[in-house]
Amino acid sequence: MLQLYANDSLTAIKLSVEIKSDFMCFVYLHRKCILRSHQIWTGLPQHINRVAYVLVLLERLLKFDVCIGNPEVEFSNLVPIGSGLSSNNSPEIVAYREEDFNATHASGERYNSTIRSVKCDMLSTSKKCTACKKYFYLLQSRTNRVESRLLSCRKYSHTNFKHRDMTKQELNMKLNEQKHEIKNLQTELWKQRREFDKIITANGISVEGSEHHELKDLMASCETEFEKSFPISTSRQRLFWEQQMSFVLCVLTLY
Ligand SMILES: [Zn+2]
Repeated sequence: MLQLYANDSLTAIKLSVEIKSDFMCFVYLHRKCILRSHQIWTGLPQHINRVAYVLVLLERLLKFDVCIGNPEVEFSNLVPIGSGLSSNNSPEIVAYREEDFNATHASGERYNSTIRSVKCDMLSTSKKCTACKKYFYLLQSRTNRVESRLLSCRKYSHTNFKHRDMTKQELNMKLNEQKHEIKNLQTELWKQRREFDKIITANGISVEGSEHHELKDLMASCETEFEKSFPISTSRQRLFWEQQMSFVLCVLTLY
């Protein structure tokens, strides 16, 4: 047995009752199985093997409606659809953002996705079940904390602030901070490289004692190849090469 949401051209399954061949019965709401501890099962046997039991169950289902959870727009940035929210003290998931069922609550309110406590009753006689109502206040304080963090212009890089506690907007801000840092480091690296090039061009590279012999031999063996690679005799590379060679020869005459 199925109950559907059919808003606009989109159709989604709201509720389904499934009776297996062994008469085990399952009720799914928004694809979530209703636990045996829920009131709808009170007094009913585990095996729904009589029409009377089916009627009792269906009559009970009519008395409940879907808990609306917390579909408020201001909470939608806290967590993407399909992801969970943990508490401050432990990594345990305490709530999750349900997928979009294009749903309509019994009050007529339409909502696209909602944040539910993991303890949500799913079927409730009030608009929000007790667990989701309680979680609403936690969501409110979480939203307030996020807003004050954004207003404080705090930094997100090099802190102990865990990714799982950041909103998508904060993760983007951290990413931008890191991109900015990398760009600064690259600029600094280029500056330093230019500075070293200038010093080397002006002073050449000096090496210790016997290394001058090795350097002279090495440069001599590469000279032809080097001149082929840089054929213009006035090029910066050729000038550097000649200066370095004359420096090596000059030092060798001192030994
Ligand atoms: Zn609920």
